[in-house]
Amino acid sequence: MSDNDNIFKKIMRGEIPSAKVYEDDDVYAFNDISPVAPTHILIIPKAPIDGLHELTDHDAELAGKLLVCASKLAKKLGLESHGYRCVINTGAEAGQSVPHLHLHLLAGRDFQWPPG
Ligand code: AMP
Repeated sequence: MSDNDNIFKKIMRGEIPSAKVYEDDDVYAFNDISPVAPTHILIIPKAPIDGLHELTDHDAELAGKLLVCASKLAKKLGLESHGYRCVINTGAEAGQSVPHLHLHLLAGRDFQWPPG
């Protein structure tokens, strides 16, 4: 069950502005409004999927498209030489604040491991 009023759905409907960096039939990518790294892009499926926990075998192609999108954007933006990180927060304890699947593409600074 998906929340039709969450902020990412409003962004995709054009009701809230966003700094789009990529779009195709299945995927939308835009700059995070509160970046935690010099590059901080959110990559989301257009389909109403609340989070990674909702994926089934039927979503394998779409899930792959999110990763391929991240890889292509990283190439296009020249992030590969220094490295980048992809994060999908899932559920409250992991820090998911918007109930629509999203992949964070982060780059431009050193990242710690394990993450906080
Ligand atoms: P998460 O905490 O993993 O659910 O990530 C949600 C992300 O959405 C956070 O990094 C927020 O800064 C970002 N965010 C919230 N509202 C907007 C918005 N209107 N435009 C762009 N990014 C947003």
